[in-house]
Formats: sequence, C-alpha cells, structure tokens
Amino acid sequence: MYIGIDIGGSGIDAGLFRRDGSLAARARADVAPGMGRDGIVRDMLSALRGLISRAGVRSEGVLGIGVGVPGAFDGASGEILHTPNLPLDGLNLARELAGDFSAPVALENDANCAALGELRAPGRETVTDMVFVTIGTGIGGGIIAGGTIYRGAGSAAGEIGHMVIVHGGRPCPCGRLGCWERYASASALASSAAGVCAKGGGGAMLRLCGGDMASITAKTPFDAAKRGDAPSMRLIDEYISYLACGMTNLVNIFQPQLICIGGGVSREPDEWLLDPLRETMHREAYSRPGGRVGVEKTRFARDAGIIGAAALFFE
Ligand SMILES: [Zn+2]
Repeated sequence: MYIGIDIGGSGIDAGLFRRDGSLAARARADVAPGMGRDGIVRDMLSALRGLISRAGVRSEGVLGIGVGVPGAFDGASGEILHTPNLPLDGLNLARELAGDFSAPVALENDANCAALGELRAPGRETVTDMVFVTIGTGIGGGIIAGGTIYRGAGSAAGEIGHMVIVHGGRPCPCGRLGCWERYASASALASSAAGVCAKGGGGAMLRLCGGDMASITAKTPFDAAKRGDAPSMRLIDEYISYLACGMTNLVNIFQPQLICIGGGVSREPDEWLLDPLRETMHREAYSRPGGRVGVEKTRFARDAGIIGAAALFFE
C-alpha cells in the first residue's frame, strides 16, 4: 500500500492506495487557524494511524509515502522550508513520519501532485503533455512534459500565475505588475465584482449576497450573470478573456495535449466557462499538427492531490 498526503491551508488529506492505484481508505486532519506546528503534526500523525488501522494494514505494509507541499521544500532531506499559509517552516516531515513508518517519504509541490493525479483519470492514459491550472486565491500550475513532472531548476517551475498578461498592470505581491493571477484568479474576480458593486452597478450581485459586499465571491458574478444581469455578464466576459489569454500563452509555449482546470471556478457549467474559453483559445492559439488542445475540468477535484502524491511511487 502507498499513502498520498495533500497538505492544504484548511486541512491535511491523506489516502491509502493499493498498488493498482485504487483508494482503500482516506482520512483528514483539519487545520484550525492559530494551530501551531506541533499541533498540526500531532493531528496529522493521528489521522495517518487511524487511516492504516481502519484499513487493517500494519505500518510495515506501507511501501511509500508521497506528500504534496504547498510551498518550498528540500526533497533530499525531507524538510519543509517555507509554507506561506501554514506554520510548517523548518519541519522535517521525513523525520516525523519515520517514527511511525519505515517507508521512504517523497515530497513534491502540491500542484505537481494534483497534475500527476489528474493524469491518472480514466481516458487520459495516452496524455503525456498536460498543464494543470488551479484557480483559487492565486493561480497555481503543474506541468507534465513527456509523461513526467517538469520541475525546472530548484524544482521552482510552474509559477504560471506570475506570468505578466498586462504590462505595467495591477501590482502583485511577487513584485511584478500585471501578473495573470491578479486578473484571472477567483480572488481577482471577486474583487472586480466588489469594485462594480462599490461603484453602484452591482445591484443583482449585492442582492445575491444579502447586501453584504464582504461576502462576494467568484461565484457571485457567475450566478448573477446566469440570471441575465448585464453588468455581471460583462464582468464574466472580461474575466474569461483574461483567463483565456494566459491559457493561450501556455498552449503556445508547451503545446500540451490537454489543459486541465481545477479550483472552485472549475465547477461553473461549461456554457459559462469551458465553452467560451475553448472558443477564444482555439481561435488564438498557434495550431499544431494533429489537432487542437483539449480543455477539461478536474476529474478528481480535491482528491487529485492525494492520488498524485501516492502516484509518485507508482512509476
Ligand atoms: Zn506575480
């Protein structure tokens, strides 16, 4: 059996997988705000113990533990160097897990794990080149090239959210101006929607969130647009054009067979998201012999991370 762990900002998910990649059991340790490093590690270890005991597996029966890390890490030593949204800096995860398990521990970037997981979805057996795009607070990416993760020097590749799509545009915490995620992340859409409301043009959106501008999310303008609200429809059109711009850039650089989209925005129906995205991308992207790029949603949603983390050991 193999364990795949996905460390997220609100919880740590773990799955126990058979050698054929099928899921035997799963567990989750919630991460509460203000929880320190020791508390998070304690809850994670207790979730893992529960996971194998429920499945009736002894710890020696676990042959590999893959971990998706939302930040920087040292793969050789198993140490987490920096996680911007969790207090795990300096944690040697390999050492912590060695107390319970004798299996090797492999750390990998969380978006890369999700990409690897999506590659294992039925029907994707022949996909060797894919870019996985997660749309959330920012935009993360995992690049699969020639059937393996493209890591770049220092495993730092895949920061697709920080490609500039508007030169001299909106400031980004990374220090650049006009980064893709400042226009096409879920947070960017929510803040554009709040901007429209602040100027008095977002009555339909405000009604959907009980008049509370602070509770506007990326879903709000989509929902208002579906009801025919003109300002929301303009906002969604603009949002899709920004999203398509970055995705077309990715197609021109990597020529993947498939671009896969994850994150909350990916739950929007095709007519509002994938159809207009495909239309723009197919019109603008450099064509390649053999056909157009596929644009699909995540098949595994949140499970892609644990599947991909365990899959680090499947090859
Ligand atoms: Zn940036």
